[in-house]
Amino acid sequence: QAKESGRNAYQFFTAEMNVLAFERLVLENALRQAVERQEFVLHYQPQVDMGSGRVIGAEALVRWLHPELGMVPPARFIPVAEDSGLIGAIGDWVLYEACRQNRAWQEAGLPAIPVAVNLSAVQLRQSELHESVAELLRRTGLESRYLELELTERTVMEDAEATVRCLRRLDEMGVMLSIDDFGTGYSSLSYLKRFPIDKLKIDQSFVRDIVADADDQAIAVAIISMGHSLRLRVIAEGVETAEQLEILHRHGCDEAQGFHFGRPMPADEFAAYLARRNA
Ligand code: C2E
Ligand code: MG
Ligand code: MG
Ligand code: MG
Repeated sequence: QAKESGRNAYQFFTAEMNVLAFERLVLENALRQAVERQEFVLHYQPQVDMGSGRVIGAEALVRWLHPELGMVPPARFIPVAEDSGLIGAIGDWVLYEACRQNRAWQEAGLPAIPVAVNLSAVQLRQSELHESVAELLRRTGLESRYLELELTERTVMEDAEATVRCLRRLDEMGVMLSIDDFGTGYSSLSYLKRFPIDKLKIDQSFVRDIVADADDQAIAVAIISMGHSLRLRVIAEGVETAEQLEILHRHGCDEAQGFHFGRPMPADEFAAYLARRNA
């Protein structure tokens, strides 16, 4: 090691970089196999109406069950999937599975609610997205109003003109649209008005300290008020406590999602939860 100390920082940096690049490659290869072996599952997190306390939606969140690594969270592999082009196959599966599952719940007699699916920027940029969504709804027999697509503020603003066109097609089909992680990007308000969206999702970073932090509370309140002025529904993400919920409810927030109501759970658990809550 002492001998090594003479080495320059450049070599050290390169070695570090190689390790990162290698890890990335390993992950990418494992992910490619995961697509073939169908190692993904969806968990569902309830979205609750603040007024009635009823479950009015479910967000589908993908998990990767690797035979050795265990459960890999989406934050770990979605970026790799996006860079490697694997997001196409994964995203298609997620969309199909969420619609299939939602239709199965309806056929089992559970209350009909929309299922919300996260779309990555790569998926939104597919020129035939609306056609593949239409095909998917036909194939699963799910009505379009029971599918909701979540797009982050960053994603929709990346190419706002193209987004307007794409969202209009989806809206005409009757699919619900929401803006995820709202408040963390920078939306142009004029575009926000032109997007045919139904819902804003207040990012959880503003909810986390909403009880103690007056600035976070001010931002959340501003989002609620702006959303309502644009005739949108507003949902708060990351609601973990009754105190957070109370503040949001007092300021007119429509819906909430977070550990306070339920963590993302496997499909069978979610079905039981839905039946119990909406009984
Ligand atoms: P997101 O869409 O904003 O999803 C909300 C994330 O917050 C989820 O993390 C959820 O488990 C977590 N969460 C929910 N309630 C609480 C709470 O009360 N407290 C805290 N601390 N966290 C809460 P998850 O499942 O790890 O997903 C992370 C992100 O990965 C998602 O953020 C979304 O951007 C992305 N993602 C998940 N599934 C998919 C997918 O199928 N496709 C794509 N493109 N992205 C996905
Ligand atoms: Mg989301
Ligand atoms: Mg609409
Ligand atoms: Mg979010």
